[in-house]
Amino acid sequence: MIKLEHINKDYQLESTPVPVLKDISLHVEKGEYVAIMGPSGSGKSTLMNIIGCLDVPTSGNYIFDGVDVVNMSENQIAKIRCHKIGFVFQNFQLLPGESALQNVMLPLSFSGVPRNQRKEIALSALEKVGLGDRVDHLPNQLSGGQKQRVAIARAMVNQPQLILADEPTGALDQKSGAAVMELFSQLNEEGVTIVMITHDAHIAEHAKRVIHIIDGEIEEDKEAMV
Ligand code: ADP
Ligand code: MG
Repeated sequence: MIKLEHINKDYQLESTPVPVLKDISLHVEKGEYVAIMGPSGSGKSTLMNIIGCLDVPTSGNYIFDGVDVVNMSENQIAKIRCHKIGFVFQNFQLLPGESALQNVMLPLSFSGVPRNQRKEIALSALEKVGLGDRVDHLPNQLSGGQKQRVAIARAMVNQPQLILADEPTGALDQKSGAAVMELFSQLNEEGVTIVMITHDAHIAEHAKRVIHIIDGEIEEDKEAMV
C-alpha cells in the first residue's frame, strides 16, 4: 500500500538545503500495524507528512495504493487524502466551536456523502469509540482521551484504508492512551493499515512492526515478537 523508494527531503535554511530525510526506502503492506520511533527532530513528522500526501519529497518515488502520488495534481491528491487516509494528531486538531458530532460529520461533507446521511454515520462512529453519550459536547467539555477518540471517529468516518497517527497518545495520561491503543488494535483487526509515530516504547509495543529512525535514516526495522 505504501512504497517509498529512495526518498530524500531537504528543508531550505537561508537558501542552504538541510537534509532531513536521507534515502528512505520503506514498504508497508495492507493490514500492517507499524510504529515509527525516533528522537525528537529525527524526521518522523516529515516522513508522516510525505506518507500522508501532505508534503512532497525533494527526490525519490512514492507509490500509494498503486498510484504515483509525486506526479499527481493537488486536486487528485486531496481526493486520496480524503477517501483513503485518516489522520490523528497529538493535539487532536478538533474545531473548538463545533460539537463532537459536527467535528465527525465534517469529513463526510468533503467526501460528498449526502447531507441526510451524515448525522447517522457520524453518530455510529462516535458510538463505536464509546462516545455515544457525548455527541453534543464541545471539545473543551471533553477530556483529552475523549477528544482523541472524537478525532479517531473523525479519521475513520470515511472508512479509510490507512490511519496515520503522529504521537496519538503524546498528550494523554496512561489510561486514556491505553483506550486509544485498544481502538487502534480493533481497527487493525478489522483490516485498517496503521502507521503510528511514537516516542513511547510501551506504546510502540502495540504495533506488529517497529521502525527506528535516527537523523533522517532508518536504523532498524523489525517485526514484533508474537
Ligand atoms: P520529528 O517529528 O522526528 O521530531 P520533524 O520531522 O518534525 O522531526 O523535523 C525534522 C527536522 O526538520 C528538524 O530538525 C526540524 O527542525 C526540521 N524541520 C521540520 N519542518 C521544517 C520546516 N518546515 N522548515 C525547516 N525545517 C524544518
Ligand atoms: Mg514530530
